[in-house]
Amino acid sequence: MTTDEGLRVTLLGTGTPIPRPDRFGPSTLIEAGGQKILIDAGRGATMRLYQLGVPMGRVNALLLTHFHSDHTNGIPDFWLTGWLSSFYARRTAPLHVIGPRGAKELISNLEKAYAADIKIRLVDEKLPPEGIATRVEEFDHDGLIYDQGGLKVFAFEVDHGEVIKPCFGYRIEYGGRIAVFSGDTRYNRNVIKYGAGADLLVHEVATARPELMKEAYIQRIVAHHTTPREAGLVFAEARPKLAVYTHVVQLASDTISPPSVEELIAETRKTYDGPLEVGEDLMQFEIGEDVKVRRYDVQHAAMMP
Ligand SMILES: [Zn+2]
Ligand SMILES: [Zn+2]
Repeated sequence: MTTDEGLRVTLLGTGTPIPRPDRFGPSTLIEAGGQKILIDAGRGATMRLYQLGVPMGRVNALLLTHFHSDHTNGIPDFWLTGWLSSFYARRTAPLHVIGPRGAKELISNLEKAYAADIKIRLVDEKLPPEGIATRVEEFDHDGLIYDQGGLKVFAFEVDHGEVIKPCFGYRIEYGGRIAVFSGDTRYNRNVIKYGAGADLLVHEVATARPELMKEAYIQRIVAHHTTPREAGLVFAEARPKLAVYTHVVQLASDTISPPSVEELIAETRKTYDGPLEVGEDLMQFEIGEDVKVRRYDVQHAAMMP
């Protein structure tokens, strides 16, 4: 199957604010109908695109879920480095950003912050001015926010806590295939509503050992996210062909170790018995008749068959 026929999802970063070298900041690449779109650009998104051999200039749009820095701190790197003339970059058209209300302010402030670099490169490297321009669209309620080449994206509101607003998830549709992303959220019925009948349902999750749950700051973090048991309830109701975890919050302290991936799965199994993968950076899903999972081989710098 080629990308033009199917829907392909690649987890670029499956991490959180923790600067782990094996789990980069939240970012996901969607490819279908000749379109390439990014959902969020956390730390290291450019490095994962480079590993995949996807030039930054080939990305048609950047979608934002919310404004927590772990989801946005890769934007300046993606935007500015993507403008360079080298093979891994070469953006020659304005960067198209789509996000909740607040996206325009974020991008216009980045333009101010990096004005000196832009001025220098325009004169010194003769880079095309259109390639560093931006086109930002904002939305403030559930609905269709992208429709190109048969690829449709719907935004839906999720619940990341009282003051962390706005915050959205995304439902991607292409050729009858459906991939749904929870964004950062607590247990939320809207994810079940938009996730119903999905081929792929990608959900965030947060875990901590019971000893650590006694700490107030840990309780505060967990209250903004979904526990494995709660995510299992979402999966059990939405019944996707494949459920996947990303944004894997494994809380720890200097004396208490983080719950393992095996423990995360065991907790989920208390409420959900269907197909499940714990996402890893560069894990890729080819969505056709069924959902094929591929992993990246770091040693050979290529996707495993
Ligand atoms: Zn967040
Ligand atoms: Zn987050």
